Amino acid sequence: MPDKSKFWCASCKYKFERKFKPNLCPYCGKNNVEADKSRGAEDLLREVSEIGKDS
Ligand SMILES: [Zn+2]
Repeated sequence: MPDKSKFWCASCKYKFERKFKPNLCPYCGKNNVEADKSRGAEDLLREVSEIGKDS
C-alpha cells in the first residue's frame, strides 16, 4: 500500500496525492483542498472526461 492519500481542490478540481493534506492547492493556490474519498483510477478517468464534456 502506498502511504499517500488523495486530495482534490474544490476550486479548480485539481487532483493530487500527498502524504499529508496541504493547506493550499498546489495548482491554484487556494485554501480549498478536500480529501478525496475514492475510488479507483477508472473513476478518476471518467470524471476527467466528464469535466471535459462540460466545456
Ligand atoms: Zn486548486
